[in-house]
Amino acid sequence: MTSIKVENLSKIFKKGKTEVKAVDNISIRVNDGIAFGILGPSGHGKTTFLRLIAGLEEPSNGYIYFDDEIVSEPHRVVVDPDKRGIAMVFQNWALYPNMTVFDNIAFPLKMAKMPKNKIENKVKEVAEELGLASVLNRYPKELSGGQMQRTAIARALVKDPKVLLLDEPFSNLDAQIRESARALVSKIQKERKLTTLIVSHDPADIFAIANQAGVIIHGKFVQIGAPVEIYDKPYNTLIARLTGDINLIRAKIIENNAIISNLKIPLKNIELKDQTEVLVGLRPDDMVLSDSNLDRYVNVGKVKIKLVSYGAGIFKIIVSPIDDENIDIIVDSEEPLEVGTYTHLLVKINKIKIFDINGDSVFAKKSEIIK
Ligand code: ADP
Ligand code: MG
Repeated sequence: MTSIKVENLSKIFKKGKTEVKAVDNISIRVNDGIAFGILGPSGHGKTTFLRLIAGLEEPSNGYIYFDDEIVSEPHRVVVDPDKRGIAMVFQNWALYPNMTVFDNIAFPLKMAKMPKNKIENKVKEVAEELGLASVLNRYPKELSGGQMQRTAIARALVKDPKVLLLDEPFSNLDAQIRESARALVSKIQKERKLTTLIVSHDPADIFAIANQAGVIIHGKFVQIGAPVEIYDKPYNTLIARLTGDINLIRAKIIENNAIISNLKIPLKNIELKDQTEVLVGLRPDDMVLSDSNLDRYVNVGKVKIKLVSYGAGIFKIIVSPIDDENIDIIVDSEEPLEVGTYTHLLVKINKIKIFDINGDSVFAKKSEIIK
């Protein structure tokens, strides 16, 4: 199969007199068979990066290698997209509306002039893999969103690509089926050991599929690691917010505790560099509301229940420290709690994130936060 190496890759677009550095000097290696997730806000270079890998854009600078072969160099696509062994799935799926599912999937093979009987076998095989066997004679407008998306993926996989490039492939799916679509792509990626790059602004897509991930901001990777590492130890508050819900609360440091009104969060084993104020990052799923203590959690103090809402199988509870009702903290809970009542906030001790006032993690790279 194929590994991808990118060296000092940049892409500058000229818009009149202004220049946009869509991809800014990226160097990265994606090993053979890995699913690499690229997370980042809209307009920060994700699609451009993928199009460079596909050979649909020339680099302004830098090199791209598939294994040891140069496929792109400055101002030149050395190996054309159709010779790279890649397949791409875009957000809008781009199915041919006047062709059946069968013909949509068969299209790349017809282009490659594969014999008819071989095409038929291959299409049936892929249709089976993606659960499309019963809809091969339908037209795109007769399909559900999930079936359309699976048709786009089937068309991408039918030529047995060595590299799969997915650009926001789930964004147009209804929330209920996004989960199963992710699971299916993840299964296929693993079974085929397919080197995969998946781009999304939705961390759930990345977490469901990627073994490794990078956060791209202003055309640069600002953090690369295992998805769970980025989620648990974001380098800054921007990455923390991009990767999931998080409460970011100003706290005073007093004797190695972060103090938020009456709440006291112990920061043991943390080297504070004379900080007197920090931002404490607490993810809603790293906290529990309870009057009894729990292993691996620290009871940080008494809170008041202000609001309760239900969504996606979980209650979102907004609490405030009893001494300051202006501070809101969102906590996930499996049970509803009664508004106006009091309880205690328990925080998972090794998940507390501390950022300096500028939003940079002082601690993520250096020391674990251990009780
Ligand atoms: P993302 O996929 O992260 O939303 P893009 O890679 O599409 O971001 O875009 C990154 C930046 O490059 C944006 O500022 C966008 O406007 C600009 N850009 C992308 N493609 C072109 C193009 N063909 N011409 C000019 N500017 C472009
Ligand atoms: Mg994009």
